[in-house]
Amino acid sequence: MTQPSRLAIVPFVSVDRMMKLVLTIGVERFLTELAAYIEEDFRRWELFDKTPRVASHSHDGVIELMPTSDGRLYGFKYVNGHPKNMREGRQTVTAFGVLADVGSGYPMLLTEMTILTALRTAATSAVAAKYLAPKGSQAMAIIGNGAQSEFQAIAFKALLGIDRLRLYDIDRSASEKCARNLAGKGFDITICATGQDAVEGVDIITTVTADKQYATILTDNMVGSGIHINAVGGDCPGKTELHRDILLRSDIFVEFPPQTRIEGEIQQLDADHPVTELWQVMTGQAKGRQTAEQITLFDSVGFATEDFSALRYVRDQLKATGLYEELDLLADPDEPRDLYGMLLRAAEPSPAQQGDRRADKLIA
Ligand code: NAD
Repeated sequence: MTQPSRLAIVPFVSVDRMMKLVLTIGVERFLTELAAYIEEDFRRWELFDKTPRVASHSHDGVIELMPTSDGRLYGFKYVNGHPKNMREGRQTVTAFGVLADVGSGYPMLLTEMTILTALRTAATSAVAAKYLAPKGSQAMAIIGNGAQSEFQAIAFKALLGIDRLRLYDIDRSASEKCARNLAGKGFDITICATGQDAVEGVDIITTVTADKQYATILTDNMVGSGIHINAVGGDCPGKTELHRDILLRSDIFVEFPPQTRIEGEIQQLDADHPVTELWQVMTGQAKGRQTAEQITLFDSVGFATEDFSALRYVRDQLKATGLYEELDLLADPDEPRDLYGMLLRAAEPSPAQQGDRRADKLIA
């Protein structure tokens, strides 16, 4: 009977293993180490194949593919965004992804990415804020207290030392859930009755709401000088969170302009409105925050290199933790051209022996 080689076995990280992996490493350490991978890849920006993600829009949401490669590794993520899902008991955002070897084209990792997306989005926001938020920032408002919110809070604590949170959500139970989940983690948390109340006295405003429309989560009068805005929830055509006037007063920082102009807050601006690319700030080719009065805006939409970094990070944790399953994903006949022969041989053994094929391989 044909035995697949070890090369044909693909490590698979299920949701269960991902949760164990995050808890084994520790959420703060995971976010800090992941942020370092994300920053490392932003610094080698020019090496990457870059394209705006391929999006399939419908009335209720979007399904997207996010590919990139550094020439040695290739990665992609499948991700959706369906704001109505939450009301039906489903996640707004779910995802899975693949990392592959460019040399052979063989996948090296298949992993859940719903949890990983929340982690990478938060880590990216915190990396951006390291360069853009006012020095010594301590207080952050989080508007929208759904699935992403705790990850954002913990990343900002781990990377910037944010320890005062002001939470606001149109659904108070979401803020209560967020506060409960963050209890005992060293935060001083206030649940606020309005967005206006939430932004009172903070250094950073994170908007991470979900609504498939041009929403106005922040109006111009809510944003004082010196604030850093981490705008996460506006990430689709027709889906924004900030009033246009705020954009006109801000210095705007983006991941990959061709994608952000389609999906980000800046879809509300002229196509040639100046923006700064985050990678240029990280490599010293452009300035981040320059004055205490400046309003900085990270117009986050989520870019493929961040998922690539997350896939690399997870792959690097597998050997030491063993937190993966082995997946029989690739057909791998002994004689590469004899794919059909492999199929014929699979019919030869008795059904009991045939059932052993998977077991033999997993033990090999
Ligand atoms: P979620 O549905 O779990 O939570 C969204 C929360 O926003 C809910 O609690 C909802 O009550 C609240 N909300 C909606 N409208 C509001 C309003 N007007 N004011 C205050 N709160 C309001 O969604 P999630 O998974 O936390 O994702 C949040 C957003 O972030 C989504 O829009 C998603 O597409 C986006 N996102 C962006 C990135 C990125 O890289 N930029 C990555 C992941 C998710």
